Amino acid sequence: MLDDAGLQALREAARLSPDNLPLRRHLAEQLLAKGYLAEAETEYRATLLLSPKDPDITAGLAEAFVRQSSHGAALSALEPFLSTPGYPPRLGILAARALLGEGDVAGAAHRYHDAVSRDSSLADPDLAARLAPQPATPYPSGAHPGTAPPHNASAPAGAEDREVEHSGVTFADVAGMEAVKEALRVKLLLPVQQPELFAAFGKRAGGGVLLYGPPGAGKTHLARAAAGELGASFVNVGLADILDMYIGSSERNLRATFEMARRNRPCVLFFDEVDALAARRSDMRQAHTRQLVNQFLAELDGVDENANEGVLVLAATNAPWYIDVAFRRPGRFDQLVFVPPPDAAARAAILRILCRNKPLAEMDFDAVARTTDGFVGADLKGVVDRAVETKLHQSISAGRPIPLTTNDLLAAAQAMRPTAVREWLSTARNYVLHANDSGAWDELIPWIKAKR
Ligand code: ADP
Repeated sequence: MLDDAGLQALREAARLSPDNLPLRRHLAEQLLAKGYLAEAETEYRATLLLSPKDPDITAGLAEAFVRQSSHGAALSALEPFLSTPGYPPRLGILAARALLGEGDVAGAAHRYHDAVSRDSSLADPDLAARLAPQPATPYPSGAHPGTAPPHNASAPAGAEDREVEHSGVTFADVAGMEAVKEALRVKLLLPVQQPELFAAFGKRAGGGVLLYGPPGAGKTHLARAAAGELGASFVNVGLADILDMYIGSSERNLRATFEMARRNRPCVLFFDEVDALAARRSDMRQAHTRQLVNQFLAELDGVDENANEGVLVLAATNAPWYIDVAFRRPGRFDQLVFVPPPDAAARAAILRILCRNKPLAEMDFDAVARTTDGFVGADLKGVVDRAVETKLHQSISAGRPIPLTTNDLLAAAQAMRPTAVREWLSTARNYVLHANDSGAWDELIPWIKAKR
């Protein structure tokens, strides 16, 4: 792999020869290999315009998407191939990873097995294990608690295998959310950027932040941007990375994850869907699940006060009320930050960011924002991806880039059903009205009132 100077030279060369396909393809591959995922995505997109329908470039683009958890975009990129019989099996594996990311286990299993039946060298035991039917409880009916996993047979995606990203995304890529960004700046960034100031006031860096809000509102995007803003590595942990059916394995995975973050400091360690790992112990019927929560608390506290230095723990949940209050003590997730659904101005800003670097006609983002009430960031990304997809097809037929227009976005928005923000707010309302003794959900009150 190239070192950073080599990569910089390659970027420069590509800038000077934007039409040199092999050069740009090589740059995209290197960016992907080094984990500069957002930049790799941009480069692959540009390369694909030079050589539309190239399976290798499409595979690179899809991989960049999957590793950024943009599963829908990965599937859109792969779609022209997947509908053709005999498509390259490697693309099927990527489709399986994207489908799994979207929660479509059956679809993922179908793609995976089809791909491996045509090219057995693509077999991926970790992926296959995640496609096997999952038990409803942490133990399968045939396995006994305490059974050690058969050697190598079910080792989950070990922390070592997981990707450490070097995020190119910063707060400049996060539209709106000024209050949220400011809270993260004070909590996460300033103590690291200006340690003397904090020391003067006797404050230490530390403690994590729990981001909560409706799905798709941009929690993962924010966490990734915080890492980029800090120049820290980014470890994105999903449930499938930790939960394992064998007793003790989930705890081991959790420990290995924290250790990986400590080895890569400064690091932002991000837990998505954390409510499943940090649920109220009183809600749990089984002792082993409580052990996982205890292990999580122990890792957050660290063996000594320096254990987690340089490791900033962020977590996201759509259901913060299920989280054990022990997680909210000082030094743990001691700050709750609400990531709201975007208002019209924020939607226009998100659209502007999402359309950056794309060929555009004169755009009226405000008009699109006005017609997308109830859309969250993820929905708007879907709108832009869909409009771009249509434009890409038209550009390929025309043999030149045709710019995106306001009408393209309006048409794509009309064809989309947004995420259920309203339903989320009505669930939230119950907790705010009936279980807000500690005032933890005060930030939500204005939103709940506005939606009534
Ligand atoms: P969540 O983690 O809350 O479910 P994500 O962070 O996965 O949501 O958001 C999905 C996508 O929506 C992101 O990858 C990003 O492209 C887009 N997005 C969301 N919020 C914003 C924002 N404020 N600015 C720019 N893009 C956003």
